[in-house]
Amino acid sequence: MTDKTLFERIIDREIPADIVYEDEQCIAFRDVNPQAPMHILVCPKKPLAMVSVAGAEDASLLGQLMLRAAQIADEQGYKDAFRLVINNGAAVGQTVFHIHVHLLGGRSFTWPPG
Ligand code: AMP
Repeated sequence: MTDKTLFERIIDREIPADIVYEDEQCIAFRDVNPQAPMHILVCPKKPLAMVSVAGAEDASLLGQLMLRAAQIADEQGYKDAFRLVINNGAAVGQTVFHIHVHLLGGRSFTWPPG
């Protein structure tokens, strides 16, 4: 048995993923069930369950996720046309309790979101 989250297991290479970016703090891989032509998950390597449990000590790390998402969007050809989504809590659709930024692009998006 393991109490690692799915994304910790991807970080530790215990299960495969289509990784598009990695550095000491972050990893990004394609969502297995893409909701747009570009659907990438940008995660911290630190196992934080959700944004609402992050602390002041995580401010730089959370900022890094935004910057890396923008960099990856640029690399993927969506420099000024992407949406970032973070689900925080099961009530709003979070299913994997390891912070991840959904980086979406390549189609039109409605507002407000569903
Ligand atoms: P959330 O609902 O915000 O917690 O998002 C979790 C996301 O993880 C969903 O969009 C899933 O499609 C995605 N997902 C689940 N399993 C995998 C996997 N093995 N590799 C990549 N993405 C996954």
